[in-house]
This record gives sequence, C-alpha cells and structure tokens, in this order.
Amino acid sequence: MPHRIIIVGAGLAGSLLAVQLGRAGHHVRILERRSDPRGSGVLGGRSINLAISVRGFRALERAGLHDRILEDAVEMPGRMIHTGAGSIFQPYSRDANQSIKSVSRGGLNLALIEAADELENVEILFDRPCKSVNLADAIVTTTNPDGVEETHTADLVVGADGAYSAVRLSMQMNPRFNFSQNYLDHGYKELTIPPVTEGPHAPFALEPRALHIWPHGGSMMIALPNPDGSFTCTLFWPYKGDHGFDRLEHAEPAEIVAFFEEAYPNAVPIMPTLAEDYRRNPTSPLVTIRCNPWNIGRTVLLGDSAHAIVPFYGQGANAAFEDCDELVDALARHPEDIDRAIREYQDARIDNANAIADLAIENFLEMRDHTGSRVHRLKKKGSQMLGGLVPALWTPLYDMVSFTTIPYAVARNKARRQSRVAGMVGAAIISICILLLAMFIVILAGNSAGS
Ligand code: FAD
Repeated sequence: MPHRIIIVGAGLAGSLLAVQLGRAGHHVRILERRSDPRGSGVLGGRSINLAISVRGFRALERAGLHDRILEDAVEMPGRMIHTGAGSIFQPYSRDANQSIKSVSRGGLNLALIEAADELENVEILFDRPCKSVNLADAIVTTTNPDGVEETHTADLVVGADGAYSAVRLSMQMNPRFNFSQNYLDHGYKELTIPPVTEGPHAPFALEPRALHIWPHGGSMMIALPNPDGSFTCTLFWPYKGDHGFDRLEHAEPAEIVAFFEEAYPNAVPIMPTLAEDYRRNPTSPLVTIRCNPWNIGRTVLLGDSAHAIVPFYGQGANAAFEDCDELVDALARHPEDIDRAIREYQDARIDNANAIADLAIENFLEMRDHTGSRVHRLKKKGSQMLGGLVPALWTPLYDMVSFTTIPYAVARNKARRQSRVAGMVGAAIISICILLLAMFIVILAGNSAGS
C-alpha cells in the first residue's frame, strides 16, 4: 500500500531515500532548508569529495544510479603515506581489485536530487526549513520562502536533516529519549591541490589512485583525488597546541607556508594557494552523535540525524545509504503496518551505527598515530596475509567494513575476537621461544661445566 511520506532534508541520505521510496510507489515530499542547488549552482558541503565503498554503491545500485556515479569516481585501492622518510603505498586489501572510490559530494547530491525529481510521485520543496514535528501525527511545521509558517501532514516523517537535525530536536523534548554528542579535540579544514600540466601523474600532482595521508604527531593531513586532476586536502588538527589551529589563527601567509614546509614538506610545492585557502576556509568541528530510540510515533531518524560519526573510516554516507535500504525493505515487508516497519528498521540499525561510530574513532587514532610506523605496516601486511591463508578464519577489519556488507557490529565483534586470538597466539609463540632459549642456555651451561 503506498504511503504519504515526508522526508526532511535533501542531503545524501534524504535524496537517495526519496528515489528508493518513489520507485517503490510511495508518495514522497521532501522538505529541504536550502535553495534548489540547480538554480543557485551551489551545493554547500563539508568536504568537497568523499569516499564511497561497497555499502554505498550497493544502495546506489538498487536505486539504479551505480553506473552514473561510478563514471565520475576516482578509484583508491590504497593509502599513500608521506613521512620524512619518503612515501609508501599501502594497499587497502590483499585483493588488488578492491578499492574505495572518491566521489564529488556536490555531484553525488545533485545526481540524487535529479533522480528523485524525475519521479512523478516525488515532490521536492526547497527553502523549507523544518521548525518542529508533531511526532505522533506526522505533521511537520516549516516556513515557506516568504517566511510564512506552513504545515505538512503525512503517514510517516523521516528526519534526514543531518547532524544538527531539527526533527531530532523535537524528539529530544520527549521523556526517555537518550542523546549524546561528543566533540573531538580536533577540527578540520579543507585545502586544495590544483591540477598540474606536467609531471608523471599529470593532470594529478600526486599518484591519483590513492588516499594520501601525511601523519604528523597528533595530527594529520589527507588528500583525496577529484576527476579533474585536483585533490581535496583536509587537515585534521587539534584546536589548541603546538600543531593546533590556534597556533596559526592570526598568522601571516609566510608563517603559514613555513609551518607547512616543516610539517608536510612534499605537499607545499603543489599547494600554490595554500595560505589563501588556509585563511579563507572555515575550521569545522568533528562530532559523534548517538541517540536512542530513532523513532517516536510516526517519525523516524535516518543518516547523520540518527548517527553522526567522525569521518575516519569514510563510512558516514555509506552507513546512511545502508539505512535507506533497511527502511525501504522494512516498509516493503510490512506494507500495512508502518509502526512495525519503522521499529524493525530501528532495531536492525542502532547497534550497527554505534559500532561504526566506535570504529571511526579507533581508525582516527590509527591513521594519526600509527600509519607512519613500520610495526603498524607489518601488522597490516600480516593481517592481509592471514586473510589470504585462512580466509574462513580471518578477515581484516578494513576489508569487512569497506569491501563487504557484513553488518558493522558483526565486523567489529569478529575483529575483536580475531585480535584476541592473535594476541594469544603471539604470546604463546613468544613463550615457546623463551622456553627454547632457556633450554638451550641450560644445555650449553651443562656442556661447558662437563668439559
Ligand atoms: P547531510 O548530508 O548533512 O544532509 C542533511 C540535509 O538536511 C542537508 O541538505 C541540509 O540542508 C538539510 N537540512 C538540515 N536542517 C534542515 C531543516 N531544519 N529543515 C530542512 N532541511 C534541513 N562519509 C563517507 O561515507 N565517506 C567519506 O569519505 C566521508 N567524508 C567526510 C568528511 C568530512 C570532513 C565529514 C564532516 C563527513 C564525511 N562523511 C563521509 C560523512 C558524510 O558527509 C555524512 O555521513 C553524510 O553527509 C550524511 O548524509 P545525511 O543526508 O544524513 O546528512
């Protein structure tokens, strides 16, 4: 039975959900705060590109958009780590065919909005900021472009309005709604490496088939390739400290360049607008948001509004796209029972969202503190080798998260079990070596006493 569904937010998740629900025959109205990006030509966003992996592409495939998005994606089969000692490529998987893909955030959002708009039963209303939601009766209050208040009623309201969700705020007014918001001490700022006309990778200034990382103490810079030959760089620095954003807050251009020359020497020559970009672009916070429940009455949360995570596993949008699949499937399973469908959707997703939130924070520490270390590289190689030797017993965590659709919570728990076993096997091997060494010394001592 087709339902009337309001989606608040035409971001990545909201617009993909509209395509999926529209194709399933529901009557969808999207209420989006921003102006129509096709008219304004601007799609504001936090990072200019983002990494999409298997989970995201599976959802896009179901919406018939896989090939269209893949056309403009740049494959990244591994990371290139830049340290003072040089640059080293680390494949993400033992399987050389596996890669994550760098995709334009604005381009992806536009393609999804256009695909939604092509459907007769999907209506997109821009310049409609949601003010509040009557959760039980599925009534959304917005203002129209003239600032006049209006209401929209449906059978179901989906809050896909991002980390600072107005829909979730209406839920927070309810008793027994659990909510937590945790900021990292680090923020982020985007910079650019423009295309070049000469060099071994032209128009790319660096190896294009990689996610580049410059670890530096407690901070780092990363860069993802764009199809036009440029790279979007992101600094992940603490707000305060020797390598903190506050250090360069009022710095002159020469001081900014000098700072980068010391921290990321091989990047400075390919960043001609570094100081300008640094001073112009905002520093934004990194937050993890968790809440429970995700649904109250006839209203449900999805994507960042339900689970904003830090971006270090490149999974926020991927997880949001998985939410879309799960919600659409649940509504298809229970066409006459929306309440049951949204309960099942919530139950299937909350643990997984919490798991990827944990893993994203753990990966931040790994990328920042360990990617430059030889021991860490050996461990990664060892893990990939084990995956090749005994695939039934061992799957590297990164593979499970990025190259499979194993639920995040299952992947996290399996990885924890694997590392406990690896720790025990390692301890056993060390004990045996120590025992053998002790026996050898005793025998040697006995021999020399006898002679
Ligand atoms: P959003 O994309 O934030 O969209 C929310 C929409 O709701 C927007 O259109 C907004 O205008 C609208 N809206 C907001 N408030 C209202 C309101 N009151 N009324 C109506 N509309 C409203 N994820 C990945 O998978 N891979 C990556 O590589 C990656 N990199 C990232 C890098 C950075 C620096 C950051 C910060 C995040 C990154 N993410 C990445 C995460 C990803 O950006 C988010 O998970 C994803 O955008 C979530 O989609 P969403 O639709 O839920 O929210």
